[in-house]
Amino acid sequence: MCGFADHSHKNSPCPKCKVTQDEIFSDASLRNGTCLISLVAYSFELTITIEFDPRNGEEHRRRCFQEKALETRDERNTFFDEHGVRWTELARLPYFDLVRQTIIDPMHNLLLGIIKTQWYTQWILTPALRASTQTRTRELNLMHTFLSTFEAPLWAGKLPLRVGEPAGGSLTADEYKFAATTAWPITISHFILYCIHYIQHAIQIPIIWDMFVEEAESDQKTSIKSFSKRQDQFIKDYEAWKAHREAPQGSAAAKRGNKKKSAKDDKEPKPPKPPKVRMQRAEPINFLRLSTALKIFCVLSYAKQLYGVDALKPNFHWAIHLRQQILDYGPVYNFWAFLSKCLNKVLKSSNSNNWTGGQIEISMMREFSRGAQIDSLVISLLIIVLSLSGIFRLVMR
Ligand SMILES: [Zn+2]
Repeated sequence: MCGFADHSHKNSPCPKCKVTQDEIFSDASLRNGTCLISLVAYSFELTITIEFDPRNGEEHRRRCFQEKALETRDERNTFFDEHGVRWTELARLPYFDLVRQTIIDPMHNLLLGIIKTQWYTQWILTPALRASTQTRTRELNLMHTFLSTFEAPLWAGKLPLRVGEPAGGSLTADEYKFAATTAWPITISHFILYCIHYIQHAIQIPIIWDMFVEEAESDQKTSIKSFSKRQDQFIKDYEAWKAHREAPQGSAAAKRGNKKKSAKDDKEPKPPKPPKVRMQRAEPINFLRLSTALKIFCVLSYAKQLYGVDALKPNFHWAIHLRQQILDYGPVYNFWAFLSKCLNKVLKSSNSNNWTGGQIEISMMREFSRGAQIDSLVISLLIIVLSLSGIFRLVMR
Protein backbone atom coordinates (compact mmCIF):
# COMPACT_ATOMS: atom_id res chain seq x y z
CA MET A 1 0.00 0.00 0.00
CA CYS A 2 2.86 2.41 0.78
CA GLY A 3 5.03 1.27 -2.13
CA PHE A 4 7.38 -1.13 -0.28
CA ALA A 5 8.56 -4.55 -1.39
CA ASP A 6 7.72 -7.61 0.72
CA HIS A 7 10.05 -9.64 2.95
CA SER A 8 11.41 -11.70 0.03
CA HIS A 9 13.04 -8.69 -1.70
CA LYS A 10 16.84 -9.02 -2.00
CA ASN A 11 17.80 -5.40 -1.18
CA SER A 12 14.77 -4.03 0.71
CA PRO A 13 12.94 -6.63 2.82
CA CYS A 14 12.14 -4.12 5.59
CA PRO A 15 10.06 -0.93 5.25
CA LYS A 16 11.77 0.68 8.22
CA CYS A 17 15.53 0.16 7.72
CA LYS A 18 18.08 -0.60 5.01
CA VAL A 19 18.85 -4.18 6.03
CA THR A 20 19.32 -6.60 3.12
CA GLN A 21 17.92 -10.11 2.72
CA ASP A 22 21.41 -11.59 3.33
CA GLU A 23 21.66 -9.73 6.63
CA ILE A 24 18.10 -9.97 7.93
CA PHE A 25 18.85 -12.78 10.41
CA SER A 26 22.33 -11.56 11.41
CA ASP A 27 23.06 -10.57 15.02
CA ALA A 28 23.39 -6.94 13.90
CA SER A 29 19.93 -7.04 12.31
CA LEU A 30 18.34 -8.57 15.41
CA ARG A 31 19.74 -5.90 17.73
CA ASN A 32 19.22 -2.97 15.32
CA GLY A 33 17.32 -0.16 17.01
CA THR A 34 17.18 -1.88 20.42
CA CYS A 35 17.83 0.28 23.45
CA LEU A 36 19.89 -0.40 26.54
CA ILE A 37 19.34 1.47 29.79
CA SER A 38 22.44 1.46 32.00
CA LEU A 39 23.33 3.08 35.30
CA VAL A 40 26.33 5.38 34.80
CA ALA A 41 27.56 7.69 37.61
CA TYR A 42 24.25 7.57 39.54
CA SER A 43 22.21 8.42 36.44
CA PHE A 44 20.53 6.31 33.82
CA GLU A 45 21.95 6.37 30.31
CA LEU A 46 19.98 5.31 27.25
CA THR A 47 21.95 3.74 24.40
CA ILE A 48 20.19 3.00 21.10
CA THR A 49 21.96 0.60 18.76
CA ILE A 50 21.78 1.64 15.10
CA GLU A 51 23.21 -1.12 12.91
CA PHE A 52 21.37 -0.34 9.67
CA ASP A 53 20.39 3.16 8.54
CA PRO A 54 16.69 3.91 8.95
CA ARG A 55 14.66 4.53 5.78
CA ASN A 56 13.74 8.09 5.01
CA GLY A 57 10.17 9.08 4.06
CA GLU A 58 11.24 11.81 1.64
CA GLU A 59 13.74 9.57 -0.11
CA HIS A 60 11.05 6.89 -0.51
CA ARG A 61 8.59 9.45 -1.90
CA ARG A 62 11.21 10.64 -4.40
CA ARG A 63 11.78 7.07 -5.58
CA CYS A 64 8.03 6.51 -5.90
CA PHE A 65 7.82 9.43 -8.34
CA GLN A 66 10.95 8.16 -10.16
CA GLU A 67 9.25 4.77 -10.58
CA LYS A 68 6.06 6.42 -11.85
CA ALA A 69 7.99 8.37 -14.48
CA LEU A 70 9.44 5.20 -16.02
CA GLU A 71 7.76 4.25 -19.28
CA THR A 72 8.06 0.50 -19.79
CA ARG A 73 7.22 -2.45 -17.58
CA ASP A 74 10.81 -3.76 -17.89
CA GLU A 75 12.23 -0.46 -16.65
CA ARG A 76 9.86 -0.55 -13.68
CA ASN A 77 10.78 -4.14 -12.83
CA THR A 78 14.51 -3.33 -12.97
CA PHE A 79 13.94 -0.29 -10.73
CA PHE A 80 11.92 -2.41 -8.31
CA ASP A 81 14.62 -5.12 -8.20
CA GLU A 82 17.20 -2.50 -7.31
CA HIS A 83 15.32 -0.27 -4.86
CA GLY A 84 12.23 -2.28 -3.77
CA VAL A 85 9.93 0.67 -4.54
CA ARG A 86 6.63 0.80 -6.47
CA TRP A 87 4.35 3.77 -7.13
CA THR A 88 1.71 4.48 -4.49
CA GLU A 89 -1.01 7.15 -4.64
CA LEU A 90 -0.23 7.94 -0.99
CA ALA A 91 3.05 9.52 -2.19
CA ARG A 92 0.95 12.48 -3.39
CA LEU A 93 0.01 13.41 0.19
CA PRO A 94 2.55 16.04 1.35
CA TYR A 95 1.84 15.45 5.06
CA PHE A 96 2.10 11.66 4.90
CA ASP A 97 5.47 10.16 5.89
CA LEU A 98 5.54 6.89 3.95
CA VAL A 99 8.09 5.27 6.27
CA ARG A 100 6.99 6.52 9.67
CA GLN A 101 3.30 6.05 9.01
CA THR A 102 3.67 2.52 7.61
CA ILE A 103 2.72 0.29 10.51
CA ILE A 104 4.25 -3.08 11.32
CA ASP A 105 1.16 -4.50 12.96
CA PRO A 106 2.08 -5.87 16.42
CA MET A 107 -0.81 -8.36 16.35
CA HIS A 108 0.46 -10.08 13.19
CA ASN A 109 4.13 -9.50 14.03
CA LEU A 110 4.12 -10.77 17.62
CA LEU A 111 1.10 -13.01 18.08
CA LEU A 112 0.50 -14.51 14.64
CA GLY A 113 4.24 -14.25 13.84
CA ILE A 114 6.73 -14.93 16.60
CA ILE A 115 4.43 -16.67 19.10
CA LYS A 116 2.84 -18.83 16.40
CA THR A 117 6.31 -19.81 15.11
CA GLN A 118 7.28 -20.81 18.65
CA TRP A 119 4.13 -22.89 19.23
CA TYR A 120 3.35 -24.41 15.86
CA THR A 121 6.76 -24.64 14.13
CA GLN A 122 8.98 -25.31 17.12
CA TRP A 123 6.69 -27.36 19.36
CA ILE A 124 3.93 -29.00 17.32
CA LEU A 125 5.66 -29.75 14.00
CA THR A 126 9.03 -30.86 15.46
CA PRO A 127 7.21 -32.58 17.44
CA ALA A 128 8.30 -31.47 20.92
CA LEU A 129 4.70 -31.69 22.11
CA ARG A 130 2.99 -34.90 20.96
CA ALA A 131 -0.55 -36.21 21.26
CA SER A 132 -1.07 -39.22 23.54
CA THR A 133 -1.41 -42.74 22.21
CA GLN A 134 -3.78 -45.38 23.62
CA THR A 135 -1.03 -46.74 25.85
CA ARG A 136 1.14 -43.72 26.59
CA THR A 137 0.42 -40.33 28.10
CA ARG A 138 2.34 -37.67 26.27
CA GLU A 139 3.03 -33.94 26.50
CA LEU A 140 -0.19 -32.55 24.97
CA ASN A 141 -2.31 -34.70 27.26
CA LEU A 142 -0.82 -32.94 30.29
CA MET A 143 -1.58 -29.58 28.76
CA HIS A 144 -5.18 -30.63 28.00
CA THR A 145 -5.64 -31.92 31.56
CA PHE A 146 -4.42 -28.60 32.87
CA LEU A 147 -6.66 -26.58 30.55
CA SER A 148 -9.74 -28.60 31.52
CA THR A 149 -9.33 -27.45 35.15
CA PHE A 150 -7.79 -24.03 34.56
CA GLU A 151 -10.05 -21.13 35.46
CA ALA A 152 -9.51 -17.64 34.13
CA PRO A 153 -11.76 -14.59 33.97
CA LEU A 154 -13.65 -14.27 30.70
CA TRP A 155 -11.84 -11.07 29.76
CA ALA A 156 -8.49 -12.85 29.99
CA GLY A 157 -9.45 -15.31 27.25
CA LYS A 158 -9.55 -19.07 26.87
CA LEU A 159 -8.03 -21.87 24.80
CA PRO A 160 -9.64 -24.82 23.00
CA LEU A 161 -9.39 -27.91 25.21
CA ARG A 162 -7.72 -29.94 22.43
CA VAL A 163 -5.13 -27.27 21.60
CA GLY A 164 -2.25 -28.62 19.51
CA GLU A 165 -4.34 -31.36 17.87
CA PRO A 166 -6.39 -31.08 14.65
CA ALA A 167 -9.57 -31.21 16.79
CA GLY A 168 -8.46 -28.00 18.55
CA GLY A 169 -8.34 -26.07 15.25
CA SER A 170 -5.97 -23.20 14.58
CA LEU A 171 -5.65 -20.51 17.22
CA THR A 172 -6.76 -16.91 16.80
CA ALA A 173 -4.52 -13.95 17.64
CA ASP A 174 -6.47 -13.46 20.87
CA GLU A 175 -5.94 -17.09 21.87
CA TYR A 176 -2.20 -16.83 21.15
CA LYS A 177 -2.06 -13.73 23.36
CA PHE A 178 -3.80 -15.51 26.23
CA ALA A 179 -1.72 -18.66 25.76
CA ALA A 180 1.64 -16.88 25.57
CA THR A 181 1.07 -14.62 28.53
CA THR A 182 -0.91 -16.94 30.82
CA ALA A 183 -1.47 -20.64 30.08
CA TRP A 184 1.78 -21.78 28.49
CA PRO A 185 4.21 -20.09 30.91
CA ILE A 186 2.47 -22.07 33.67
CA THR A 187 2.47 -25.37 31.84
CA ILE A 188 6.07 -25.54 30.67
CA SER A 189 8.58 -25.26 33.50
CA HIS A 190 9.76 -22.98 36.20
CA PHE A 191 11.74 -23.83 39.28
CA ILE A 192 9.14 -22.46 41.72
CA LEU A 193 6.29 -24.23 39.93
CA TYR A 194 8.45 -27.34 39.81
CA CYS A 195 8.72 -27.22 43.63
CA ILE A 196 5.01 -26.54 44.05
CA HIS A 197 4.23 -29.47 41.80
CA TYR A 198 6.24 -31.94 43.81
CA ILE A 199 5.53 -30.53 47.27
CA GLN A 200 1.85 -29.83 46.91
CA HIS A 201 0.28 -32.46 44.69
CA ALA A 202 -3.13 -30.89 45.11
CA ILE A 203 -2.06 -28.26 42.59
CA GLN A 204 -2.09 -30.23 39.38
CA ILE A 205 0.14 -28.13 37.20
CA PRO A 206 1.64 -30.11 34.34
CA ILE A 207 5.26 -29.09 34.02
CA ILE A 208 5.85 -30.58 30.66
CA TRP A 209 9.56 -30.00 30.14
CA ASP A 210 10.55 -31.32 33.56
CA MET A 211 8.56 -34.47 32.97
CA PHE A 212 9.47 -35.22 29.35
CA VAL A 213 12.86 -33.68 28.55
CA GLU A 214 14.82 -36.79 29.59
CA GLU A 215 12.63 -38.99 27.39
CA ALA A 216 13.23 -36.61 24.45
CA GLU A 217 17.02 -36.79 24.99
CA SER A 218 16.87 -40.56 25.20
CA ASP A 219 14.83 -40.67 21.94
CA GLN A 220 17.52 -38.58 20.27
CA LYS A 221 20.30 -40.94 21.43
CA THR A 222 18.38 -43.92 19.99
CA SER A 223 17.80 -42.02 16.77
CA ILE A 224 21.53 -41.15 16.46
CA LYS A 225 22.40 -44.85 16.87
CA SER A 226 20.10 -45.87 14.01
CA PHE A 227 20.94 -42.88 11.79
CA SER A 228 23.97 -44.47 10.06
CA LYS A 229 21.90 -47.60 9.31
CA ARG A 230 19.11 -45.47 7.81
CA GLN A 231 21.68 -43.57 5.75
CA ASP A 232 23.17 -46.81 4.38
CA GLN A 233 19.67 -48.00 3.51
CA PHE A 234 18.95 -44.71 1.75
CA ILE A 235 22.16 -45.02 -0.36
CA LYS A 236 21.18 -48.57 -1.36
CA ASP A 237 17.60 -47.52 -2.22
CA TYR A 238 18.82 -44.49 -4.15
CA GLU A 239 21.30 -46.50 -6.24
CA ALA A 240 18.63 -49.11 -7.01
CA TRP A 241 16.16 -46.39 -7.95
CA LYS A 242 18.77 -44.66 -10.17
CA ALA A 243 19.73 -47.92 -11.91
CA HIS A 244 16.07 -48.66 -12.56
CA ARG A 245 15.48 -45.17 -14.02
CA GLU A 246 18.54 -45.28 -16.25
CA ALA A 247 18.00 -48.85 -17.54
CA PRO A 248 16.56 -48.90 -21.10
CA GLN A 249 12.88 -49.87 -21.30
CA GLY A 250 12.34 -53.59 -21.87
CA SER A 251 15.81 -54.58 -20.57
CA ALA A 252 16.19 -57.28 -17.93
CA ALA A 253 17.12 -54.70 -15.24
CA ALA A 254 14.05 -52.60 -15.99
CA LYS A 255 11.80 -55.67 -15.86
CA ARG A 256 13.31 -56.69 -12.52
CA GLY A 257 12.69 -53.19 -11.23
CA ASN A 258 9.10 -53.22 -12.50
CA LYS A 259 8.41 -56.50 -10.77
CA LYS A 260 9.68 -55.16 -7.47
CA LYS A 261 8.00 -51.80 -7.59
CA SER A 262 4.78 -50.51 -9.01
CA ALA A 263 4.73 -47.10 -10.77
CA LYS A 264 3.22 -45.56 -7.61
CA ASP A 265 6.16 -46.70 -5.50
CA ASP A 266 8.78 -45.61 -7.99
CA LYS A 267 9.54 -42.34 -6.23
CA GLU A 268 13.00 -40.95 -5.62
CA PRO A 269 14.04 -42.06 -2.11
CA LYS A 270 14.57 -39.20 0.30
CA PRO A 271 17.57 -39.02 2.64
CA PRO A 272 16.79 -39.56 6.34
CA LYS A 273 16.60 -36.42 8.44
CA PRO A 274 19.52 -35.97 10.87
CA PRO A 275 18.32 -36.63 14.44
CA LYS A 276 17.35 -33.50 16.31
CA VAL A 277 16.45 -33.28 19.96
CA ARG A 278 12.69 -32.68 20.30
CA MET A 279 12.88 -30.77 23.58
CA GLN A 280 15.81 -28.69 24.75
CA ARG A 281 16.49 -27.86 28.37
CA ALA A 282 16.88 -24.14 27.62
CA GLU A 283 13.47 -23.85 25.93
CA PRO A 284 11.34 -23.07 29.02
CA ILE A 285 13.55 -20.16 30.07
CA ASN A 286 13.58 -18.88 26.47
CA PHE A 287 9.79 -19.05 26.34
CA LEU A 288 9.42 -17.30 29.70
CA ARG A 289 11.68 -14.52 28.39
CA LEU A 290 9.53 -14.29 25.25
CA SER A 291 6.38 -14.21 27.36
CA THR A 292 7.81 -11.45 29.57
CA ALA A 293 8.99 -9.53 26.52
CA LEU A 294 5.53 -9.85 24.99
CA LYS A 295 4.05 -8.42 28.16
CA ILE A 296 6.24 -5.34 27.95
CA PHE A 297 6.17 -5.32 24.14
CA CYS A 298 9.88 -5.35 23.74
CA VAL A 299 10.88 -8.57 22.08
CA LEU A 300 14.35 -9.81 22.87
CA SER A 301 14.13 -13.37 21.68
CA TYR A 302 16.94 -15.83 22.10
CA ALA A 303 15.43 -18.06 19.43
CA LYS A 304 18.47 -17.71 17.14
CA GLN A 305 20.91 -19.18 19.67
CA LEU A 306 18.47 -21.93 20.56
CA TYR A 307 16.99 -23.02 17.23
CA GLY A 308 19.44 -21.59 14.65
CA VAL A 309 18.94 -19.23 11.72
CA ASP A 310 16.63 -21.65 9.86
CA ALA A 311 13.97 -21.16 12.53
CA LEU A 312 13.85 -17.39 12.10
CA LYS A 313 11.21 -15.51 10.13
CA PRO A 314 11.28 -11.84 8.95
CA ASN A 315 8.99 -11.08 11.92
CA PHE A 316 11.99 -11.50 14.24
CA HIS A 317 13.67 -8.54 12.54
CA TRP A 318 10.54 -6.40 12.18
CA ALA A 319 9.81 -6.73 15.91
CA ILE A 320 12.82 -4.53 16.66
CA HIS A 321 11.04 -1.60 14.99
CA LEU A 322 8.06 -1.79 17.37
CA ARG A 323 9.89 0.37 19.92
CA GLN A 324 9.89 3.36 17.55
CA GLN A 325 6.21 2.74 16.68
CA ILE A 326 5.27 2.70 20.36
CA LEU A 327 7.11 6.02 20.80
CA ASP A 328 5.17 7.40 17.81
CA TYR A 329 1.69 6.00 18.49
CA GLY A 330 1.58 4.94 22.14
CA PRO A 331 0.76 1.47 23.52
CA VAL A 332 0.11 -1.23 20.93
CA TYR A 333 -3.58 -1.27 21.94
CA ASN A 334 -3.84 2.07 20.09
CA PHE A 335 -2.75 0.83 16.72
CA TRP A 336 -2.70 -2.95 16.38
CA ALA A 337 -5.09 -4.74 14.03
CA PHE A 338 -7.42 -6.24 16.65
CA LEU A 339 -10.01 -3.53 16.01
CA SER A 340 -10.21 -4.16 12.25
CA LYS A 341 -10.08 -7.91 12.89
CA CYS A 342 -13.13 -7.63 15.17
CA LEU A 343 -14.87 -5.56 12.51
CA ASN A 344 -14.07 -8.27 9.95
CA LYS A 345 -15.67 -10.82 12.26
CA VAL A 346 -18.82 -8.69 12.58
CA LEU A 347 -19.04 -8.33 8.80
CA LYS A 348 -18.37 -12.02 8.18
CA SER A 349 -21.04 -13.06 10.68
CA SER A 350 -23.76 -11.10 8.89
CA ASN A 351 -26.24 -13.18 6.91
CA SER A 352 -25.26 -12.96 3.25
CA ASN A 353 -27.47 -15.78 1.86
CA ASN A 354 -24.35 -17.04 0.05
CA TRP A 355 -24.41 -14.10 -2.37
CA THR A 356 -21.13 -13.57 -4.20
CA GLY A 357 -19.89 -11.62 -7.20
CA GLY A 358 -20.57 -8.08 -6.04
CA GLN A 359 -23.86 -8.81 -4.27
CA ILE A 360 -22.32 -9.51 -0.89
CA GLU A 361 -21.81 -5.81 -0.07
CA ILE A 362 -25.51 -5.10 -0.74
CA SER A 363 -26.56 -8.07 1.47
CA MET A 364 -24.25 -6.88 4.26
CA MET A 365 -25.62 -3.33 4.03
CA ARG A 366 -29.22 -4.64 4.18
CA GLU A 367 -28.34 -6.84 7.16
CA PHE A 368 -26.63 -3.90 8.90
CA SER A 369 -29.54 -1.56 8.26
CA ARG A 370 -32.06 -4.23 9.41
CA GLY A 371 -30.08 -4.69 12.66
CA ALA A 372 -29.94 -0.91 13.19
CA GLN A 373 -33.74 -0.63 12.66
CA ILE A 374 -34.40 -3.44 15.18
CA ASP A 375 -32.07 -1.74 17.73
CA SER A 376 -33.84 1.56 17.23
CA LEU A 377 -37.29 -0.07 17.60
CA VAL A 378 -36.31 -1.85 20.83
CA ILE A 379 -34.77 1.33 22.30
CA SER A 380 -37.89 3.40 21.53
CA LEU A 381 -40.13 0.69 23.07
CA LEU A 382 -37.92 0.65 26.18
CA ILE A 383 -38.18 4.45 26.49
CA ILE A 384 -42.01 4.23 26.25
CA VAL A 385 -42.14 1.43 28.87
CA LEU A 386 -39.82 3.35 31.22
CA SER A 387 -41.79 6.58 30.87
CA LEU A 388 -45.10 4.76 31.44
CA SER A 389 -43.72 3.12 34.58
CA GLY A 390 -42.53 6.57 35.79
CA ILE A 391 -46.00 8.05 35.20
CA PHE A 392 -47.58 5.03 36.94
CA ARG A 393 -45.33 5.52 40.02
CA LEU A 394 -46.28 9.24 40.15
CA VAL A 395 -50.03 8.39 40.00
CA MET A 396 -49.65 5.78 42.75
CA ARG A 397 -48.04 8.35 45.04
ZN1 LIG B 1 14.37 -3.15 9.56
